[in-house]
Amino acid sequence: MDLTYPDEAKSFADEVRAFVREKLPHAIRDKVMNGRELERDDNVAWQRILHARGWATPAWPAEYGGPGWTTLQRHMFAEILSEEGAPAFIPFGQEMLAPVLFAVGSREQQQHFLPRIATLEYWFCQGFSEPGAGSDLASLKTRAVLEGDQWVINGQKMWTSTAQNGTHIFLLARTDPAAPKPQMGISMFIFPLAVPGITVRPIITMDGEHHTNEVFFEDVRVPKDAIIGEPNKGWDYAKLLLGHERTTIARVGQSKRQLKRLKKIAGEEMVDGVPLLETPSFRDKVAALEIELMSLDLSVLRMIAGEGKNAPGNEANMVKIKGSEIQQRVTELLVEAVGPAALPYDRAAMHGAGSEDPIGPDYAGTLAASYFMTRVVTIYGGSNEIQRNILAKSLGL
Ligand SMILES: Cc1cc2nc3c(=O)[nH]c(=O)nc-3n(C[C@H](O)[C@H](O)[C@H](O)COP(=O)(O)OP(=O)(O)OC[C@H]3O[C@@H](n4cnc5c(N)ncnc54)[C@H](O)[C@@H]3O)c2cc1C
Repeated sequence: MDLTYPDEAKSFADEVRAFVREKLPHAIRDKVMNGRELERDDNVAWQRILHARGWATPAWPAEYGGPGWTTLQRHMFAEILSEEGAPAFIPFGQEMLAPVLFAVGSREQQQHFLPRIATLEYWFCQGFSEPGAGSDLASLKTRAVLEGDQWVINGQKMWTSTAQNGTHIFLLARTDPAAPKPQMGISMFIFPLAVPGITVRPIITMDGEHHTNEVFFEDVRVPKDAIIGEPNKGWDYAKLLLGHERTTIARVGQSKRQLKRLKKIAGEEMVDGVPLLETPSFRDKVAALEIELMSLDLSVLRMIAGEGKNAPGNEANMVKIKGSEIQQRVTELLVEAVGPAALPYDRAAMHGAGSEDPIGPDYAGTLAASYFMTRVVTIYGGSNEIQRNILAKSLGL
């Protein structure tokens, strides 16, 4: 198997790297490289820089404004952006909703929403989970009833990430409570968050940050054409969308950047006069992780090479499991490498201010929060237990 890139791919990589080095604002790069929190404006600013270059939506077909890249180019682009410290794309609009709009959105929806998603003028969030509907998503209770030429929506969504930054939501709601199976009575809607009857309440996660929310809908009225595709087919569209979510959750580029950071930090931490990275037991842990990451990288490449022929299938479940476990493992080893100095939770460090009196090196300040937040990656996008159930079923087990 030849794993070297062809020459034309190398010149593409040079072009992308030179662009990112020139255009990515230093302050944003610094936050990403040091594991600090990004603000909304950081994401929007970077998205617009990419948009001006025609690179804001690398996975979109050319007819919808994508750059028309090959699978390999898309993969390299994502990797270089991660390595160079660019913010990850906000996935909800461009990576999750857009493929559904390509497949079943009306012409008007495509023309209106896609260009605005590309610039992050419209920042979408995902209204799927509810207090009683997470793994068992089909039991969701939020109701949408057609009254004249409006849908009237009532219910509650849970864990709606980035709704505090968002302008729009894509939402699953029950439109036919009498359907023979619960999955057959669900529809998908898209509409602005700034309509009367919507209340967004923060949930502070155990890293001390505001990433996610509860969202309440009380007699929310949206136009008839806020529905995507056909009524009661929302479950099929959600499956297509979740396949894309699970692929993006693999986050290979981000783990590569984190692995590099781990090696650097473990090279600076000393144990009995020897860099930690050179001690056999720690080196073994780092090597085992790197091997897992290389295997994941190849699996993702294989999977995206098949895209276009099929929607993501069981490979998406597989890379979600592995990718999330690897992300957690890196943060565990980072905390282990730094030892007690990594334990204090320093919220100021997450936002770039830094503690007045740090007990360890500067890089220690963000490690606890990042360790805690990364616990979520085996839960969201469908928990890893559920991914394993799906895989087992597909293998006939
Ligand atoms: C920080 C955060 C951000 C999130 N962001 C979003 C978002 O933006 N939009 C959105 O819609 N959702 C979001 N989610 C919701 C996420 O997708 C759900 O939390 C997830 O699907 C699990 O559902 P649950 O929390 O209801 O847990 P439950 O479904 O109650 O599961 C509890 C535990 O039981 C296990 N379990 C459940 N059923 C089975 C089974 N059949 N077999 C084996 N084990 C099982 C689960 O794996 C889990 O460990 C987010 C969640 C978190 C924590």
